[in-house]
This record gives sequence, structure tokens and C-alpha cells, in this order.
Amino acid sequence: MSKLIIANWKMNPSSESEAIRLAKASDAKGVVICPPSIFLNQIHSILKIADLGAQDVFWENPIPGGAFTGEVSISMLKKSGASHVILGHSERRRYLNETDEIINKKLLSALAFELKVILCIGEPISIKKEGILAAKNFVKKQLLKSLAGIENLKTQAKNLILTYEPVWAISAGLGTGHADTPENAAAMINYIKELLVTRYSLSVNKVIYGGSVTSANVARILEYKEIEGALVGSASLKAEEFKKIIKISSQIQ
Ligand code: PEP
Repeated sequence: MSKLIIANWKMNPSSESEAIRLAKASDAKGVVICPPSIFLNQIHSILKIADLGAQDVFWENPIPGGAFTGEVSISMLKKSGASHVILGHSERRRYLNETDEIINKKLLSALAFELKVILCIGEPISIKKEGILAAKNFVKKQLLKSLAGIENLKTQAKNLILTYEPVWAISAGLGTGHADTPENAAAMINYIKELLVTRYSLSVNKVIYGGSVTSANVARILEYKEIEGALVGSASLKAEEFKKIIKISSQIQ
């Protein structure tokens, strides 16, 4: 099965022209580009191959709109060409106090309206220091809370992509600043897959890894067949570097 590469641009780049340049360079098969929502329309109009994703969405989806200041609805995202949305990113949990309960509401709503969800889960450095068992327990709790009620949406599991993204491994984060070892990432991903089956009999679209992925480590990470792709942050903002990541990933089955 081919690997999936997701570009999380976060609050970058600073101009539309730069966003367009970056999107053109990243437009390839098996890629999802997630720019800030202000650039979605424009990027959608130039993408030929890659899919488009947003970095967040609101849980209410009144059509044509509603009194939710600052929020963007699922329908609005879909109209601007987005097929995917990232939910549960650790930066939103940290800076915007997003809880598993909030993420769960967004996830159920997005799936119900057939938006593909890229759900991020992963432990912080304090838990990592306690060892693998603590990390597994932490991830399990996040997963079960974020997926509460998924039983009623089982047919939508094909639209769910899970990302194991340990907070301490994110390059801009508050941890080690380096990627997880491929062995550990693979072990955690196997654990997540096992949980999905035993708890929900759920077979999701993909389970991928995120955290300091670069052209230098992507091959070693994706060579593990259970790691079905990568969520890439800072390296996705450098056109040449991201192209290398896409190329390497396309050569691994
Ligand atoms: C991220 O924050 O989603 C991420 C993967 O960032 P980076 O690749 O920079 O660690």
C-alpha cells in the first residue's frame, strides 16, 4: 500500500504568493497539503494532484452559517476544496485548551459530513520519561476519548487517519526536538491498531507517524510497513526538502 505524506504548514507561510509557490512544489500523488484556512481557496485552484486539508474545523455545521465567531464550518471547508482536516494537534491542545471532548465533537461531526479526519494523538515528554507503558496508557486514554461514539459511524472509518505524534518529538515542541526511533513509533502504531480492532473492530484508513520527519530519516521510518505515512511540519515548509521526502516515500511500498 502506498504511503501518505501530510504537510502541516501550521501558521505559515506569511504570504499568499509564497503559499502558492510551496503548494506547486508539493503537488504530488499521496500528498495532503494543510495550509492555514485563509489560503485554502487559492491553493485548491492551483493543485492538480495533491489533496487539500484544513488544520481545524468547528463541530457545529449549520448551513448556510451560524453565530460562532471566529469559527469555520465543515461545509465551508468542503466548499473551499478541503477534503481533510487535522484534529487534536498538540499545539491546539496546548495553546487553545482543546480537550479530548472538544476533539471528539469535531471528529464525529466531520466524519458524519464526510470530511476525512487526521486525528493526532501522542504523549508529552513528562509521560515519555515514565516509560513505554505510561506512553501507551496515555495514548489509549486520548484515543478512547477522542473516538467516543464512533460505533455509530463505523462506515466512516475509511475517512479516519490516525497520527501517532509524540509531543516531545515535534521539532517546534517542548521536548527532545528529535524524531522518535522508527522501532518505537512502529510499536506504538501497532498498539494503536490493536486497540482499534479490540475496542471498536475498526479498520481505519491509515495510521501514520509525525514528529521531526525529514528527508534524512523518512526512509528509515517508512520502511516499517505498519507506519503508513508521515505528518510533516517544518520540513514541509522547505520546497526542496519536502520534494525529497515525497520522492523517498513514493519509492517505499
Ligand atoms: C507537527 O507539528 O505536526 C509536526 C509534525 O511538526 P515537525 O515535523 O516540525 O516536527
